[in-house]
Amino acid sequence: MAAHRLPHPLPDPRIKSVYNPAAQNLLPLYRSIALMIPNWQTGIVTHIEQVTSNTRRFMVNLPGVDSFDFKPGQFVTLDLPIHEQRNKRWRSYSIASMPDGTNTIELIIVHLDGGVGSKYMFDNVNVGSELTLRGPQGVFVLPEDKDKELFFICTGTGIAPFRSMLHYINEQGIDGYKTNLIFGTRTKSDLLYHNEMQLLQTKRPDFIYRPTLSREDWEGDKGYVHNIYETLCAQRQPARFMLCGWREMIDEAKDRILKMGYDKKDIHIEIYG
Ligand SMILES: Cc1cc2nc3c(=O)[nH]c(=O)nc-3n(C[C@H](O)[C@H](O)[C@H](O)COP(=O)(O)OP(=O)(O)OC[C@H]3O[C@@H](n4cnc5c(N)ncnc54)[C@H](O)[C@@H]3O)c2cc1C
Repeated sequence: MAAHRLPHPLPDPRIKSVYNPAAQNLLPLYRSIALMIPNWQTGIVTHIEQVTSNTRRFMVNLPGVDSFDFKPGQFVTLDLPIHEQRNKRWRSYSIASMPDGTNTIELIIVHLDGGVGSKYMFDNVNVGSELTLRGPQGVFVLPEDKDKELFFICTGTGIAPFRSMLHYINEQGIDGYKTNLIFGTRTKSDLLYHNEMQLLQTKRPDFIYRPTLSREDWEGDKGYVHNIYETLCAQRQPARFMLCGWREMIDEAKDRILKMGYDKKDIHIEIYG
């Protein structure tokens, strides 16, 4: 279903600077703001896949551009026809695919109980549906410095930006990052991209994958994500922590990492809600 095209929204502090030619005619202050905000564009859903009981992958093609350029870890914002007030219609989704020179991106979305936007995505969006979206946005991206070990900590669909980063590092043959993915879900069937991450671990000696389940016994780690990074960082080696997902996990992880003696400058977060 097509949504309405909107005028420029207010600035979002996480927005990456993207050139917007329409901004040339505006007054200087508004111009500098508008220059940073990507235009709304239309996306066409080309593929939908149910991957767990409540999570779907959506492939979205952007016919307005030849190549959708973004940094791994960035997100797009959808304007969904779910409310009269435009800022109540916006829902952001991390890009789960890596930049590959094409104009198709992957989103992975969980259907939240009582969630209006995710319900819309599940009940009303089909292959061929049009979405109004803007992006790329956000500064939750790979650090330029490779001096510290990276700990990607996530639950559920919070894996999305890390999947993009990890595939990018691998496909581009980038050396120097030492990465750990600590991924928590309730059960094994909730583990998103599990086979992919296992395969990546066999290819890259500089990547450690540690999935952990809070509600099912299995051969791997059990419990929440916290014990895992605390154990891996027992020596307090130089580290950067990137946390993505829902507030409860992020708040707890932030507290624990600070208590371990790490600096808040070494904690980067992307909160979903
Ligand atoms: C930068 C960014 C990137 C994001 N990327 C993704 C992504 O890749 N995939 C994805 O699925 N979502 C992502 N989100 C979350 C997404 O934008 C929506 O917030 C989410 O889909 C819920 O929207 P809704 O309209 O269904 O729920 P709403 O109608 O907005 O309400 C749901 C409310 O309930 C709370 N809630 C309900 N269930 C839970 C739960 N299980 N845990 C925590 N809080 C809960 C939420 O905080 C929210 O306030 C991202 C958010 C941000 C800001």
